[in-house]
Amino acid sequence: MKTVAFIGLGNMGGPMASNLIKQGHNVVVFDLVQAALEQKVKEGAKAAHSAVDAVADADVVVSMLPAAHHVEGLYIGDSGIINAAKPNTLFIDSSTIDAATAKRVGEAVEVSGNTFIDAPVSGGVAGAAAGTLTFIMGGTNDAVERAKPILSCMGQNLFHAGDVGAGQIAKICNNMLLAVLMSGTSEALSLAIDNGIDPKVMSDIMLQSSGCNWTLQKYNPCPDVMDNVPSRNDYNGGFMVKLMNKDLNLAMETAKGTGSATPLAAAAQSLYRLHEQGGYADKDFSSIFKMFAK
Ligand code: NAD
Repeated sequence: MKTVAFIGLGNMGGPMASNLIKQGHNVVVFDLVQAALEQKVKEGAKAAHSAVDAVADADVVVSMLPAAHHVEGLYIGDSGIINAAKPNTLFIDSSTIDAATAKRVGEAVEVSGNTFIDAPVSGGVAGAAAGTLTFIMGGTNDAVERAKPILSCMGQNLFHAGDVGAGQIAKICNNMLLAVLMSGTSEALSLAIDNGIDPKVMSDIMLQSSGCNWTLQKYNPCPDVMDNVPSRNDYNGGFMVKLMNKDLNLAMETAKGTGSATPLAAAAQSLYRLHEQGGYADKDFSSIFKMFAK
């Protein structure tokens, strides 16, 4: 069993750390929120007084923070965790951030003689709790192989996308497509409803036709079609509109960097921005359906 430092015990990091504890690892936790620390101590973790304190004896460090500036602040600088770690530490950042920051942090870790991978996740809070997340890794083959036993305690599907930063690129490509699919599915269902077709019947037709996609299979945006999805629960729980906007911004920045054309993502980004401004920031992203519903 390894000593794992886990930093960032929010909606995702909290249940991810719980799964490491359940698998018998010696988990040392740190978060800025005291209540989050206390909860993990009840589950068997050791609470550290600071991030630097948390990593001091760790074999592996996992970070799960909101955005790039949190990650850069945690790792780099005089009070960064890189300098506090013992030799041969493996750092895994699972936050969703831009690839350029992931590469900068990765380089700083490599300069220190330690190892870094980016490993953003897909699967949401439910996947984090169930230990069924998908990890999309960027790093060397050796680093990825070292990370797998730890990540498999928290997830089911482990992909190696390429070098450091590639995990972040692959993750935001997927979420960009998800935003387009959710918007398009909402548009099609609303057109059907406006023309007198029952959305359940329309969903069944598309599920067996060429319009079939993940949102229809697992996450129907129209209330009353599917059980156990956010649309059934007034769009509460799930993946918030403000986080989808963060990912769409990352996708558009990435596209700008390579001069790639992303017209459908641009349309989805405008829709999701308007939707967030309309008071839906904290609702699930399938609530985009409301933009189309009469
Ligand atoms: P969250 O805001 O619930 O949790 C972040 C945690 O990090 C908080 O507890 C905060 O106190 C802590 N934190 C911030 N700065 C810190 C620091 N310097 N040191 C220690 N702790 C610090 O966010 P979340 O929903 O858990 O998301 C985390 C990451 O996962 C984000 O990058 C998000 O985009 C990504 N993600 C989220 C979901 C989802 O459904 N929520 C799905 C996939 C990916």
